[in-house]
Amino acid sequence: VLASLKCPPSDDVVPSLLDVVRRFCSAEVNSARIDREACIPRGVLRGLADLGLFGLTLPTSYGGAGLGLHEACRVIAELARFDRSVATTVGVHLGLGTRALIAFGSKSLQERFLPALASGAKIAAFSTTEPGSGSDLSNLATRGVMSGGELVINGEKIYVTNGGFADVFTLTVSTPGVGGAERGQSLVILDRATKGFTVGPEESKLGLKGSSTTSLALEDVRVPAMAVVGEAGRGADELHHVLSWGRTLMGAGCCGTAQVAVERMREHTASRRQFGKPLDSLEVVQEQLATASARLFAMQALVERVSSVEADFASLGVRSLAAKVFCSEGAGEIVDVCVQLHGGAGFIEGTGVPLLARDARITRIFEGANDVLLTQMGAQELVAAPRRSPLASAAGATSLAAVARGADQLADDVAAVRTATQEKYRVGALRQKRLLHRLGRALCWRDAADAAVLEACSTTNPHYAALATLFVEQARHEAARSLTAPVGLDVITPALRATPGSLS
Ligand SMILES: Cc1cc2nc3c(=O)[nH]c(=O)nc-3n(C[C@H](O)[C@H](O)[C@H](O)COP(=O)(O)OP(=O)(O)OC[C@H]3O[C@@H](n4cnc5c(N)ncnc54)[C@H](O)[C@@H]3O)c2cc1C
Repeated sequence: VLASLKCPPSDDVVPSLLDVVRRFCSAEVNSARIDREACIPRGVLRGLADLGLFGLTLPTSYGGAGLGLHEACRVIAELARFDRSVATTVGVHLGLGTRALIAFGSKSLQERFLPALASGAKIAAFSTTEPGSGSDLSNLATRGVMSGGELVINGEKIYVTNGGFADVFTLTVSTPGVGGAERGQSLVILDRATKGFTVGPEESKLGLKGSSTTSLALEDVRVPAMAVVGEAGRGADELHHVLSWGRTLMGAGCCGTAQVAVERMREHTASRRQFGKPLDSLEVVQEQLATASARLFAMQALVERVSSVEADFASLGVRSLAAKVFCSEGAGEIVDVCVQLHGGAGFIEGTGVPLLARDARITRIFEGANDVLLTQMGAQELVAAPRRSPLASAAGATSLAAVARGADQLADDVAAVRTATQEKYRVGALRQKRLLHRLGRALCWRDAADAAVLEACSTTNPHYAALATLFVEQARHEAARSLTAPVGLDVITPALRATPGSLS
């Protein structure tokens, strides 16, 4: 399909591609069945492979379509409108699963693995999480030791997306001493058929049931030294790059989920009548619908902006955190409003609405729990705040000038809190985790407001201006809330000690 759409990659290819994806998913993807049977039918995976979706971002020299992160985000968002498990399966293959191999793999590794990964004959997975190492990525127990020119790996990994059927795995492994790094980690590419490597059974989950999730065991697994991608013992930068792709694609998937939730709530509130009129004629409902639409617009604009800095690894690394956190929280809240506006029907599986909520929940946890990422964002801002150009000049004298000034004011408020924190705590500022966490959340609202205004400025579509206007109002309110000082530890600590049993 991609060949017939006449790549070389360009934006023009995206509408036709989305159209093909839409037609395929309408005919073949049954999300209720995928949820019920807790797997994606083989025929659907084969169909996705035949469309070329598993090769979307893989190099053309190995049979892929050579498209970029930006185009992949559009496709993942579209897949997520139909089924979140399908979107996750493809998204992990394109992001976490193949990125290290594409960006850092040697020619011989690429020649060995990429052709089958591009055709979808083989699927990729990525694994760092272990029983004792989740949010703390620095503390891996899976260990690789050099012996006779080979890396001998022992350990256990858990919660591996695509694990059940993947053929090619990128693993993070602690490799003390390798490459001269005493506490170094390396990224290793592993074939499923490697001796000593076994895949555990499928996990039973709250949602995203069609997405495969398994453990892995590695017992004296031997791989050649060239299976290490990037710099041996110094895999942190490579890992961040892989995660930045994964997080951006996940943000895109959240946009797809939120979009279907907005569509569903609009349809339902237009057709359902109470008090002698449609629900969507009630002011309180109208505010919820408009707010959800504005939030969705900002999520889409943010992913659009973040995915377009693909070539700048450092910038993508920083910005992808906001995309992941803002979009996963936005999707969670929009889906919750969708449940609420459906009333009792929103709680009944047959409507498909509960599935949206169950599938969305994990996105605030995996690929970095949001609270961890928010704190990381706050710390990055304190250490080296990226330069931001005021938006008022981008908006010029258009009707968006006032909205742009609002976004600039939000950014100034965030900058003022950052400066005040630095001045008050100096080198100790990085230890103020609760402050960093709150700063991180305000940064999400700032980045999303900037993206929404820039998106609205880039078109003459009056709907975009309306959505950006409402969103910036909301963002200023929410950022101000995040920037107020947290409750003091003198209040928190006594309450922490006093967990109630049953009240007497
Ligand atoms: C369905 C599913 C698919 C997954 N797919 C993959 C995959 O393909 N590859 C892979 O490697 N992993 C995968 N994971 C693992 C996932 O990325 C981790 O579960 C996640 O990073 C959180 O780690 P943890 O579960 O160990 O939670 P923990 O690290 O134990 O943290 C638990 C909670 O404590 C809080 N917390 C922890 N640290 C901090 C902190 N510093 N500041 C504030 N709060 C904190 C957060 O609320 C966090 O959610 C998957 C998980 C699931 C459930």
